[in-house]
This record gives sequence, C-alpha cells and structure tokens, in this order.
Amino acid sequence: MKRIIFLGAPGAGKGTQAERLSEIYDIPQISTGDILRQAVKDETLLGKKARSYMDKGNLVPDEVVIGIIEERINSEDCENGFILDGFPRTVPQAEALDSVLDGMGIQIDMVIDFKVPEDDLIKRLSGRRVCRLCGANYNIWSNPPKKDGTCQKCGGELYQRTDDSEDTIRDRLNVYHLQTEPLIKFYRDKGRLFSVVGTGHFDVIFSRLRRVIEGGGDTHGDTEIPRGN
Ligand code: AMP
Repeated sequence: MKRIIFLGAPGAGKGTQAERLSEIYDIPQISTGDILRQAVKDETLLGKKARSYMDKGNLVPDEVVIGIIEERINSEDCENGFILDGFPRTVPQAEALDSVLDGMGIQIDMVIDFKVPEDDLIKRLSGRRVCRLCGANYNIWSNPPKKDGTCQKCGGELYQRTDDSEDTIRDRLNVYHLQTEPLIKFYRDKGRLFSVVGTGHFDVIFSRLRRVIEGGGDTHGDTEIPRGN
C-alpha cells in the first residue's frame, strides 16, 4: 500500500515526479493546485472563491482544500494508495488529513521532502511553461519545447501560469517558508519524513525517489541529506 505525501517548495519538482510515479504504481496523483486551476478555468463556485488567492500566490483557505481532499481520497481509485502533491500545506491541513484518514482506518505511509536550493526554484518557476491542452510541463532553459510556444506531445499552445511571474514567485516562496515548512518538523516528529535531493536530471531524481520508497524509506545512501538543511 502506498499512501504518500510530496512536500517541497513550489518548483521543487513534486508535480513532474508525482506524474511518473503515479503511472508506475498505478495510483492517482492528487494535486490540489491542478484541481483548483481546473475549477478556475471552469468558472465554478470553487474556482471563483480560489482565484484571488491563487493569483496573489496566497494559500486558499484551509477549509476549502480540506473539503476537496476529503472527497477525493474517499474515491474508489484511491483504495490502493495515492500521491498527495501540494497537500497538506499548513499544519491545520495536516491535522485535518490525519483525522480524515483515522476515520477511514488508514494512515500515510511516507512523506517525501524534495530539497532544492532557492535559486534553482526561482529559475524553474520563472522558466516554466505549461500546455493549455494536455497540461504537459516544459522549461525554457532546462527542457525547452522543440518548437517555441508549442507542446510537442499534443501541439497545444504553451503558456506561463499567472502565479509564475517574478513577484508572485517571491510571495509563494515566502508563503512556503512561513506556512508549509513547519510540516517538515510535524512529519519528522511522527517518524514519517524522508528527504530526496531534488536537483539534477529528472531521471536521476526519479531513481533516488524510487530507492527511498522501495527501500521502505531506508535512509542510508546518497538520497538522504541531513535533516534540518
Ligand atoms: P501548486 O500548483 O501546487 O503550486 O498550487 C498553486 C496554488 O493553488 C497555490 O499557490 C495556492 O494558491 C493554491 N493551493 C494549492 N494547493 C493548496 C493547498 N493545499 N492549500 C491552500 N492552497 C493551495
């Protein structure tokens, strides 16, 4: 059973790693950011509520995202596990998640913290481009599309997320340090925390990730870096 949380700052690579892991383990990737962006696009009530927070790089109120997650993890496709990508992001969200899971008689198996230096995060976020049609991610520096502005998987138009502008990136990183980073201690104290160095080529990071997960979180080896760094 694999019930996994991906922690890490915006731009740490949680989404791209979660996408591949979800295919290999055949468990869903649950991204609150993706769910909220879809709601904004569809102009639903949820989307209207979330939009102003997201545009400013702030967190959407806890009760809104907790409701989304509670409904999602009760779905049939989550029976064999799931990857939470971008949730929880505050201590109250983590506590609410614990009580939802307690009620279901299950628990989180592992929390993976992706460690990436701040300069790299800024470069990744400001260079990120996303396909409007299929959601594929590119980076103008490290993973550019073959043809400028066009997705090479589906031909869709690539765009820059409004919250990937330079000012909003700084706000999002501040929000991360203030509100999300305390979760590292929260899960370390529960003995569930494992770290993966999130720099380097995608495949290298992915094999570090698999080694940590498949070693049952054996923390010896090059995937582990000192806690608290
Ligand atoms: P992401 O795609 O994970 O970077 O999320 C994009 C934006 O969606 C964030 O900057 C928040 O405004 C909002 N968001 C995503 N997940 C959460 C969450 N767990 N709690 C609050 N807001 C969230």
